[in-house]
Amino acid sequence: MATKTKDSTTTNGNGNGNGASAVVKPDYEGVSQKHFIFSDEHEQLRESIRAFVQKELAPHAEEWEETTFPNSVFERMGELGFLGLDKPEEYGGQGGDYYTSLVLAEELTHAHSGGLAMGVAVHTDMAMPPILAFGTEEQKQEWAVPAIQGKKILCLGITEPDAGSDVSAIKTTAKKDGDEYVINGSKTYITNGHRSDVIVLVTKTDTEAGYDGFTLFLVPMDTEGVIREKKLEKLGMHASDTALLAFQDVRVPESAVLGEIGKGFYHIMWELQGERLIGAAGCVAGAERAFEKTLEFAKERKAFGRPIGNFQAIRHKFADMATKIESARQLTYMTAWRFNNGEYPVREISMAKLYAAQVACEVADECLQIHGGAGYMKEYGIERVWRDMRLNRIGAGTDEVMLDVIGRSYGL
Ligand SMILES: Cc1cc2nc3c(=O)[nH]c(=O)nc-3n(C[C@H](O)[C@H](O)[C@H](O)COP(=O)(O)OP(=O)(O)OC[C@H]3O[C@@H](n4cnc5c(N)ncnc54)[C@H](O)[C@@H]3O)c2cc1C
Repeated sequence: MATKTKDSTTTNGNGNGNGASAVVKPDYEGVSQKHFIFSDEHEQLRESIRAFVQKELAPHAEEWEETTFPNSVFERMGELGFLGLDKPEEYGGQGGDYYTSLVLAEELTHAHSGGLAMGVAVHTDMAMPPILAFGTEEQKQEWAVPAIQGKKILCLGITEPDAGSDVSAIKTTAKKDGDEYVINGSKTYITNGHRSDVIVLVTKTDTEAGYDGFTLFLVPMDTEGVIREKKLEKLGMHASDTALLAFQDVRVPESAVLGEIGKGFYHIMWELQGERLIGAAGCVAGAERAFEKTLEFAKERKAFGRPIGNFQAIRHKFADMATKIESARQLTYMTAWRFNNGEYPVREISMAKLYAAQVACEVADECLQIHGGAGYMKEYGIERVWRDMRLNRIGAGTDEVMLDVIGRSYGL
């Protein structure tokens, strides 16, 4: 944890404190906070993203809770190169490694707006990777290039009113008709659904073929028959827009197929892995922001004549939160290291997503508790963290689904 302490205990490491020459102080401060997966370049990137986020995004956090964040955020981030950090240079990206997208997810938490971070992550880490991985050159030019510039906005449509965790139960179909496909169905809870220019749409092209009957499409949102139904109201993430979408006899050319016909299920399962790990990193960083804010509060707020942080009951809450945040961080970073090195560690990604989301929710709840009545008031921002965080145990795969993936990986 990047915290400072006044603890001046002298110790030789085993707690004896025997003799000046053998004195070794605990490294609570002054040590490098940089994890080994990050280089100096990553840290410079971190600083520049943080400066932008604190200056241009954070001041609007409250306002955007009411209005949702404006599309100009994408344009500005595109201008600064932040939407293509790990994307190939030939499409306008920065050509960085996977860790650069972790840095972005972490630094966006300084905007204090879960909804904004989610809207950006859906664009950069959910919808864009399948276009770059499976798209034709034409599709990359048409959608990925302007998306990296922040001039086109992306969304991803998997979930339907009758199928969420069980992706295989989706009912949206795409039927071949001459050299076109006709799409019918609906999607729900779609982040960026109201503002997006194109949707990466999961459909069934063969309803009899099980997992081999899925196909992805890139459907421009202004195509006839695409209906953006109501904006859905939700518990948290108010700065993001969430849509219910209908597709009524939507005709698209064959060139709208993304990836291989019949391979859509596998394409989307691959996409979910990167997204879950980014989600885990965002959870850890978000928990850390709440921790820092609450630590400050606990040092200042007095009860019974002393700062509340000095009560052992409260001190132990911080110790417990810090330990869990650190554990979640190490699991996330080590898994990211494996992912970045070409491995496909689905079990550990699921563990990181599950654990980081649970820790983030637990930390948000404890931070609210430590704030007392202030935690319940909008003014302090902790109630928003508490509301926003809750989604992480549901979105991109629920806790129960993560547990199932982990359990099954042991052959059960
Ligand atoms: C704010 C928000 C934004 C979202 N953004 C997007 C988006 O951009 N694109 C998109 O496609 N989707 C999006 N989603 C959808 C999200 O991914 C789903 O809500 C999630 O996958 C769960 O699906 P469901 O809501 O249908 O719940 P269900 O699948 O109906 O699950 C209900 C409950 O049953 C449990 N359950 C289900 N199956 C099992 C099982 N096998 N074992 C044990 N328990 C089980 C679940 O864990 C859950 O507790 C978003 C959701 C929200 C709330």
